[in-house]
Amino acid sequence: MTFKELKLNKTILRAIAEKGYDEPTKVQEKTIPLVLINLDVISSAQTGTGKTAAFALPIIQNLLIDQDAKKKKIRALILSPTRELAFQIKEDFQEYAKYTNLRVAVVFGGISMEPQIEQLKKGIEILIATPGRLLDLYKRQEINLDTIKTLVLDEADLMLDMGFIDDIKKVVKICPPKKQILLFSATMPTKVIDLAETILNEPITVEVAQTSSAAKTVTQLLYYVPKQKKMELCLHLLRNTIKGSILIFRRTKFGVDKLEKAIKRNGYKVTSLHGDKSQVARQNALQEFKNKEVNILIATDVASRGIDISNLDAVIQFDMPNVPEIYVHRIGRTGRANNTGNAYAFCSPDENAYVKTIQKLINKAIPVETEHPYLIKEKKVLENQPKKKRKYKKGRKSVASKKKKKRWY
Ligand code: AMP
Repeated sequence: MTFKELKLNKTILRAIAEKGYDEPTKVQEKTIPLVLINLDVISSAQTGTGKTAAFALPIIQNLLIDQDAKKKKIRALILSPTRELAFQIKEDFQEYAKYTNLRVAVVFGGISMEPQIEQLKKGIEILIATPGRLLDLYKRQEINLDTIKTLVLDEADLMLDMGFIDDIKKVVKICPPKKQILLFSATMPTKVIDLAETILNEPITVEVAQTSSAAKTVTQLLYYVPKQKKMELCLHLLRNTIKGSILIFRRTKFGVDKLEKAIKRNGYKVTSLHGDKSQVARQNALQEFKNKEVNILIATDVASRGIDISNLDAVIQFDMPNVPEIYVHRIGRTGRANNTGNAYAFCSPDENAYVKTIQKLINKAIPVETEHPYLIKEKKVLENQPKKKRKYKKGRKSVASKKKKKRWY
């Protein structure tokens, strides 16, 4: 199928051609026709499948056709969980709408409200927002959502994980009752389905790939390694194996900072992204990485979810995620749009249980790399089996248990 067959406007086709897209992706092929005829849609497309264009292109087209609609009024609202993703969606909309008169703006927290208010006053048709800042602006009567025709909830699962459920419901109420709602979510846990059932109107479900499946173009490798050797393993792989642009995930902000310092000390160009950094610092880090001024980016999950960094060569999961779907999201950052990619995961013995739930979700065993200097060879450690209780002589027990704790945590 071609974009032309999707009956998209010439101005949109021109912008798409400039982006170098030859044909629509699966999610675009299935979603665009439904959005064009104003149906509600639930889409469980993974990140990297082209889902932003799947809603952006038909929204732009509908706004162009809608001659009666009041100009310079917000007619499409896209809710996004993170500032980075909101900014990226705005950039995508601006590129797809570059040959139209439509105006796009983004509002998110962490920076001054004033420039955002100024922009809203000038009049725009498409607004991308994080829920908190949107409601702050609404409370201050700086924003009017009475003319919304289409509301998009992007990365709905993450928005709910981040505790935005009440904010989302408020936004839905503030918008006019008659509107089109499009819900995109990488995973479909019950809470997302429940939300969809309460706010969407006879939605059509678009399922492109199983949410539990990773792109076939990603080669996965699991490294069993003692916790205290992960840093050395990471440096060993950077020296010998992993080249190109690399995204490293850590569970905590503290972990991100610590790893960044260690990698920097070893002479690598590295930057980082996490929620404690200012918005400007986060934006700069992302830009440096995208412009290839640095080739390693270390990030927490929330800070990096949904961000499109093309041509990523490898993803390293320095910490195993405790939620199996996060593993799938992380490796989905590489091997995008049919490129190949490599995903490395470091598992210390205390994380073995996470590997089991991940393998259950993806329905296959992650291949284990045995050719590295820090491999844990003991079978009982690999399988994380509970150790047999040993009897200690009086007075020695506490020392032994302290040692055990110290080793793994
Ligand atoms: P998304 O899933 O929206 O984050 O998009 C992932 C990447 O795919 C982005 O770099 C898009 O620019 C790119 N993309 C979107 N649609 C297409 C297409 N039809 N052909 C090739 N690349 C695309």
